[in-house]
Amino acid sequence: MNKDNINNEERKSLNFIEEIIEEYLATHPGKKIHTRFPPEPNGYLHIGHAKSICLNFGLAEKYQGLCNLRFDDTNPAKEEQEYIDSIKEDVRWLGFDWEDREYYASDYFEQLYEWALALIKAGKAYVDEQTAEEISRQRGVPSRPGIESPYRNRPVEENLRLFEAMRKGEFADGECVLRAKIDMSSPNMHMRDPVMYRIMHVHHHRTDDKWKIYPMYDWAHGESDFLEGITHSLCTLEFEIHRPLYEWFISQITDKEEVPRQVEFARLNISYTVMSKRKLQQLVKEGHVQGWDDPRMPTISGLRRRGYTPASIRNFADRVGIAKRDNIIEVSLLEHSIREDLNKNAARIFGVLDPVKLIITNYPEGKTEDLEIEMNPEKPEMGKRIVPFSRELYIERNDFMEDPPKKYFRLSPGKEVRLKGAYFVKCTDVEKDENGNIRTIYATYDPSTKSGSGNTRKVKGTIHWVSVPHALDCEVRLYDRLFTVEEPDNVEEGETFLDYLNPDSLKIIRAKVEPGVKTASPGDTFQFMRLGYFCVDKDSTKEQLVFNRTVALRDSWKKQNSKKR
Ligand code: ATP
Ligand code: MG
Repeated sequence: MNKDNINNEERKSLNFIEEIIEEYLATHPGKKIHTRFPPEPNGYLHIGHAKSICLNFGLAEKYQGLCNLRFDDTNPAKEEQEYIDSIKEDVRWLGFDWEDREYYASDYFEQLYEWALALIKAGKAYVDEQTAEEISRQRGVPSRPGIESPYRNRPVEENLRLFEAMRKGEFADGECVLRAKIDMSSPNMHMRDPVMYRIMHVHHHRTDDKWKIYPMYDWAHGESDFLEGITHSLCTLEFEIHRPLYEWFISQITDKEEVPRQVEFARLNISYTVMSKRKLQQLVKEGHVQGWDDPRMPTISGLRRRGYTPASIRNFADRVGIAKRDNIIEVSLLEHSIREDLNKNAARIFGVLDPVKLIITNYPEGKTEDLEIEMNPEKPEMGKRIVPFSRELYIERNDFMEDPPKKYFRLSPGKEVRLKGAYFVKCTDVEKDENGNIRTIYATYDPSTKSGSGNTRKVKGTIHWVSVPHALDCEVRLYDRLFTVEEPDNVEEGETFLDYLNPDSLKIIRAKVEPGVKTASPGDTFQFMRLGYFCVDKDSTKEQLVFNRTVALRDSWKKQNSKKR
């Protein structure tokens, strides 16, 4: 990087979280920042999580601090090892490393229990034997004080005895809870004696059957941050209102002045997409998609399978930036990020999605020429590939028109086009089937126009092609948006997001590609020239390649489908 670039970099303005961190570092000489990414292992990570990962790990990288990976595994009823494994894979794939700092809220269950006992002893927590409905009803509404539980003032000894009995499993699920004793008239509903523990006779993936009581997220989360020495606890806006409660809990367990500072930012929303894990789970469970890694899903595993690269997602997160207010980001911005990356890095190949035969009548039968064609004009160092050319080719059906309008520069009777990397051909005739559909196009070629031969003659149109005897037959999966409306989360009463599933979000076709890609493996990405970016799917076999269309070459969707509800 030259000096100018460095200065530009520095001049790039800080986002509000970076400002908070720089001020922290300035006022805490010698200290390092410490962040964490705290997923609940109850689903696969999505692009919104990717933003949080890039933010937390990215800040630690930028300011030479540390970032932990912490699983908030406080709700064993919904959590599974499969999710933990997928989360780790996704964070690593994005390019981040938590080193040996892999933590679990369940690591702290014993400590949390001790602190809960201390709260009871201090008269700051009590066992409530009312039903969840009663508790919720008494909590009331923000404009009026709630009603105190009849158990609120029971003696400390009784609370201790009952809480211990809860732990030992002497109560059934739901029989009682431990509540913090804070303020039933607080205008902040979260301060109205929130539940700290509930009884759950459920197996936990790490603590087995040891615990019959599990801490609530609000009780576990802030204390976990405190235990790990987190300096900046970054979370999404909906937790702003929980902050006073987190601060209250922390003030009960420590006198330390330095405690984690919570900073809220806007969660990422993307148009034509749902992002809540509950909804994604529903799409999977009800079979609307083929799994968490279905290439139409906004999950990291889905995007990876679709052909997105880690760099494209990190660039996207960077571009989106950090906001203080909720907003919706255009999905086209995400698509732009992958186009930009693959344009620079993907090998070009010829693939014909809707083939029609073109026969060059003056080209010798049985002859094959191995043409050398650039891998990627944006990156000459990628070198060249060999593409066989012969008398019979497949071309794209829509690259030919029998009766074209004036400005049509592709192939039509009597007109000449360039076959990319090969020769000029002129259409001489067409043959149709009994329904009038074109079966074969006939043409002649001009041997003096061979690409790279110094030919100076010009022609307006260029089309791609694949040699018939050499073509590889393959399956191509064309994806479109999963939803037909910009805000599938925001539907009319009586409707659900499922009412707006796009019935045409997946189209499977058979296509022809040049033979060189035979050895490609899952994850490899290509530009099918003039068509878009495609990657090899994991469903590929030795016999047959399967491609996913990552994204079309251009954003044509917006224009065609900008109909709003
Ligand atoms: P969801 O609502 O999708 O189920 P969640 O917030 O319950 O997500 P967690 O596993 O608790 O999921 O999230 C882990 C971290 O990722 C949290 O710090 C959360 O703030 C952050 N996060 C989740 N969704 C988004 C999003 N859309 N944009 C930015 N950050 C997010
Ligand atoms: Mg959550």
